[in-house]
Amino acid sequence: MKRIVIVGGVAGGASAATRARRLDERARIVLFERGPDVSFANCGLPYYVGGVIAPRDKLLVSTAAKLRARFAIDVRTRCEVTAIDRARKVVRFRAADGAEGEEAYDVLILSPGAAPLRPPLPGIDHAGVMVLRSLQDVDRIRGAVDAGARRAVVVGAGFIGLELVENLVHRGVSTTLVELQDQILPPFDREVTTPLVTAVREAGVEVLLGESAEAFEPDGAGIAVRLASGRRLPADLVILGIGVRPENALAVAAGLETGPRGGIRVDAAMRTSDPAILACGDCVETRDAITGGPAQVPLAGPANRQGRIAADTACARPAAYRGTQGTAIVGAFGRTMAMTGASEKALLRAGTPFARAWVHPAHHASYYPGAEPMSLKLLFSPQGGRLLGAQAVGGPGVDKRIDVIAVAIQAGMTAFDLEQVELCYAPQYGSAKDPVNMAGFVAAGLLRGDHPQVDVGAIATPATPAPFLLDVRTPQEHALGSIPGSVNLPIDDLRDRLDELPRGRSIVTYCQVGMRGYLATRILLQSGFPQTANLGGGYATWRLHHPAP
Ligand code: FAD
Repeated sequence: MKRIVIVGGVAGGASAATRARRLDERARIVLFERGPDVSFANCGLPYYVGGVIAPRDKLLVSTAAKLRARFAIDVRTRCEVTAIDRARKVVRFRAADGAEGEEAYDVLILSPGAAPLRPPLPGIDHAGVMVLRSLQDVDRIRGAVDAGARRAVVVGAGFIGLELVENLVHRGVSTTLVELQDQILPPFDREVTTPLVTAVREAGVEVLLGESAEAFEPDGAGIAVRLASGRRLPADLVILGIGVRPENALAVAAGLETGPRGGIRVDAAMRTSDPAILACGDCVETRDAITGGPAQVPLAGPANRQGRIAADTACARPAAYRGTQGTAIVGAFGRTMAMTGASEKALLRAGTPFARAWVHPAHHASYYPGAEPMSLKLLFSPQGGRLLGAQAVGGPGVDKRIDVIAVAIQAGMTAFDLEQVELCYAPQYGSAKDPVNMAGFVAAGLLRGDHPQVDVGAIATPATPAPFLLDVRTPQEHALGSIPGSVNLPIDDLRDRLDELPRGRSIVTYCQVGMRGYLATRILLQSGFPQTANLGGGYATWRLHHPAP
């Protein structure tokens, strides 16, 4: 009888335990969980603060009793594993009553997760400074709000921070968001975040970018956050959402290999440097599916899938994790942002060459009521068009497009494949040329050399001599906002007014989203203006880079 011991009973650990049972009815499976709950919905916690998810027991996806009854798993809650003795293949544990003991394993699976960062700042231990990971954490936050907290400061504008901000606002709490970087949601490229940060501000949230919390000080019955700029933010409640660090103490003490950011190193079968010990979830360092470099991405999808693979390996079934793609989504204040694969920042860091295509289509046929615009940025290899990443921001339909591209990336597809993918269409769901196809058309056209394109960066940093900026939209559109220095000549008049354009000078055409600019480029290229290029994604992309104040 195989003895499988698992540390951590939530996403990765519970997945590993239940799959191991399905694969091996005779195995002895012992699951240790330090906290009182197993298999709870971490991802639902912010929505419990906002009262969107109620009652509280909706957060319990499963319970220790269910895991015992249905899966015959020996679940030990409030029981912490304190050490691993690799030579004897035993773990040491301590139960809530202080009793200690040992449990022997043939295979040990570590899924202890990642702990919220709490940097050693003055006052960080004040009771009003909270983090969000467990049900106990959410009880504290919800308790403070229920008790009448009126002002909150959320430090860190990542996924959890933003979800918390939305839910606090939903509860009528006046909220300030403080972020060290010059953008919200640092995994995304900055310009993609523009519509969401605008929506957050329009919801009445003060968003302080490029700011950091330096200290927390008692302030009457509440607490004040002192910022690096010297500003002081009085609050009733402070929540830190500044990232997580892998819970690697057990692994490090046992001499298992870890990466530079502390993730436990695993191979594709989720084996650590000790083949009898597997690891999965937020505690591991895996492979980045795009760049091939190390990846440490704390997301529930990877944790659950890795848990299954760890169980396969534990039960001697060949299985391999394909690497982490970083497919993620967040919604707040009616805006949705999603991404998959590498961002432009990540590609620059990895030294991977890339090209961009921007489209700004409606999420379904524009003539059908309720169409909402989205902005979709596709990153692909300039040689061969391999898909490298995509990011989108908008309302409905953003999730679908990023999911489609996520699958395309995993399948090793190219921009040329996106031209061809056949997606479901009726006017209330999509378009005959879906936004995914549109991104493929633009990218493939660039790869074929059909339409030279420049990026916003090329006109933001004026070249010498500066290009002639040609706005081919209508005068009405031009009047509503245009790129400084541009000349308006509507596309429908272009053929008759070519003599107004400078010969021998580079021309950058643009329209609202790139389509008429593309057409203008084709006209000019064939009319004696060989140095013409279209501004990728047009004025809409330029606006993302240069938001209205
Ligand atoms: P966890 O789920 O954290 O489980 C680890 C468990 O191990 C913990 O319960 C811990 O108590 C226990 N443990 C640790 N050490 C020991 C020990 N020595 N002995 C016994 N037990 C131990 N991801 C998404 O993809 N989408 C989302 O929308 C999303 N929202 C989130 C919202 C919040 C508020 C949080 C906190 C996370 C969110 N995540 C989301 C991330 C996702 O929840 C994690 O990636 C996932 O839970 C990781 O699973 P895990 O098994 O590695 O760790």
